[in-house]
Parts: sequence; structure tokens; C-alpha cells
Amino acid sequence: MVGVNDSLRSEYEQLADDVRRYRFAYYNEDAPLVSDAEFDRLFGRLEEIEALHPELVSNDSPTQEVGGDVSAAFSPVEHLSRMYSLEDVFSTSELSVWLERAGTNAATQAPHERLRWLCEVKIDGLAVNLLYRDGRLVRAATRGDGTTGEDVTHNVLTIKSIPTELAGSGWPAEVEVRGEIFISSAEFAAYNENLVAQGKAPLANPRNAAAGSIRQKDPAETAKRPLSMFVHGIGVREGLVAASQHETYDLLAAWGLPVSPYSELLDTEDEVLDYIGRFGASRHELIHEIDGIVVKADAFAIQRSLGYTSRVPRWAVAYKYPPEEVHTRLLDIKVDV
Ligand code: NAD
Repeated sequence: MVGVNDSLRSEYEQLADDVRRYRFAYYNEDAPLVSDAEFDRLFGRLEEIEALHPELVSNDSPTQEVGGDVSAAFSPVEHLSRMYSLEDVFSTSELSVWLERAGTNAATQAPHERLRWLCEVKIDGLAVNLLYRDGRLVRAATRGDGTTGEDVTHNVLTIKSIPTELAGSGWPAEVEVRGEIFISSAEFAAYNENLVAQGKAPLANPRNAAAGSIRQKDPAETAKRPLSMFVHGIGVREGLVAASQHETYDLLAAWGLPVSPYSELLDTEDEVLDYIGRFGASRHELIHEIDGIVVKADAFAIQRSLGYTSRVPRWAVAYKYPPEEVHTRLLDIKVDV
């Protein structure tokens, strides 16, 4: 392998600094400095350089970290089990390569398990971890760096769709439920209309509005924002009687937790591609904004056998839709969304 020359090393260091700075603005200040598409492009270039020169990778490289920090404005909370990000692909051909590789690894490592893909929409919101003890919500935290998040319990308690007590029975004594907090497209439009009617500036987009709302110092402020949640994962779950992701969603729904209506259990790559096409065409008619599709190996036995890197599960992937060009009627400028 050819060694790293000075210009590539300085490009790499500059990129790593930029990615850290943009992440801080996005996660800690809820005020991105660049579009998601631009961020993804820079992150992709960082990964490309590291693939060519693995000697550049260190433990604090942005590609090895989950992303957010913990702001001093909130108490730190250790998640009982780690929270992860997702590996991204940006085209259906990249997705096909990913499905093929994961399928081959699953067939080798968990040969008796049937491989099925659970397809879900990728909600453009803020990841939160809910801890229920004996069926009671005792803590809610942001993802943070994946190990430690920010305690936002008081703010999450203001969200009506999140039960403070689980319904039914059969929940483990201690269970971590992960999901995405968002503002629905309809609520966002109404909220902004109201702001404008009061002569105030409208909020820029639902994702940052949701993240900013949940990270308020005063829960009374959070309570004024129309926040919702869909759950899409589970952490500590000892004693949970479920063999797959989709069975778990059925249980979570029975316990009164809000589960996305858009998930579908599929068998073939063609069906996955069809799902991507259908949701791409109808993405603006959904309850909330999405920035892609998440494809997960459904069986827990396969998830366990494929495992995790330091940043992402090897049993799930996010397909990101290409950025759309939006013409605003007022200014006729083009922006990435
Ligand atoms: P990610 O957004 O690619 O994916 C991981 C997250 O997706 C999970 O943590 C989870 O919370 C969420 N998610 C939504 N729906 C889900 C579902 N159905 N199942 C599972 N997870 C689901 O990764 P990330 O590390 O959170 O953030 C990286 C992305 O955030 C970038 O790709 C970029 O688009 C954006 N970002 C933008 C900037 C910026 O400056 N504009 C900065 C940092 C990150």
C-alpha cells in the first residue's frame, strides 16, 4: 500500500475537524451549519480516505464515534446498553451489495435462521432512550455519544403519546425502548403559521425544531411544542419473550408504546427495492419527514450473529434518498432538504 502523502494527510485532518465541528452544531446546538447532503458527502470522503489508509484511523476518528456529545446543560446518563448509529448507503446498487454481503454472512453464521428484512421509514428526528422499571418510565435520555446521553426525562414526560406506565403485562423488570422524537408535518405547518401570525420567525425544519424542543431547559417550554414519538428499537431487555424485531414491535404496541404504521416484513431484495420506490414516491404524504429507509435483519439470532462495529450494527442499513431541490416561492432560492 502507498503511504499517506502530506496533502492527503492534511485533507484528512481538515475533513475530520470539519465533521466534528458540524456534528457539534447539529447535535449540541440543534443549528446545523451545512445541509445533511453536504455533511454526508464530507463523511463519505473521510471513510473513503480511511479505507485506502487504515493507518489513519484512530479511536477518536469521527468514523468510529456515534456522533453527539453531552452538553453541560444536562445531567449525563449512562445508557444500560449502548446506542448506535446506522451505516448509510446512497444508491440502490450500494444497497444491493450490502444486502448480498449481510445475507451471505447470515447464511454462514446463523445457517438455521430464515433471513427476512424488516423495512422501516427513517424518521428525521431525535433519538431518545426510554428506561422503564417495573413498567414505569423512570428516565429518558438523548443518544449522546452512544454510551452517555443527556437526561431529558422532565421534557419527555410532557409528550402525551409516551406512556408513563406500560399497559398489559409481560414486560421485563427493566427495559430500554429506543425511538425517534419528531414533530409531524401537519403540526409543524400549524405551529409555524401560528408563530408567523404572532409576528415571530417560523422554525426552520421539523427535525431541528424537535431536537431543540426536547433539549429545552424548561419543561413548560417543551410542553408547548407538538412532539410525537415512534419507537424503533430496544436495548436492555432481559426476559423479553420475542425472537425478532417485528415481534418486539407487536409487544411494544401492546404495552401502549407508539409504533410506526409504515414497517413491512419482506423476503426478497426486489421487495425491499419496491418498498424504497413506494415510500420515495409518497414521502411527503407521511405523518412525519423521513430522510431514508432502514432495512433490518428481522431475527434476533441473525442480529446477534452479525453483531456491531464501534459505531453501527452489521444487521441494519440506512438507505438515504437523494437530496431534493426545493424552490421556495418567496425568494426562488434552491435549498437542499
Ligand atoms: P443516521 O441519521 O444516519 O442514522 C442513525 C439514527 O437513525 C439512529 O440513531 C436513529 O435514531 C435514527 N432512526 C430513524 N428512524 C429509524 C428506524 N426506523 N430504525 C432505526 N433507527 C432510526 O445517523 P446519525 O449518526 O444520527 O446522524 C448522521 C446523519 O445526521 C447524517 O447522515 C446527516 O444526514 C445528519 N447530520 C447532519 C449534520 C449537518 O451538519 N447537517 C451533522 C451531523 C449529522
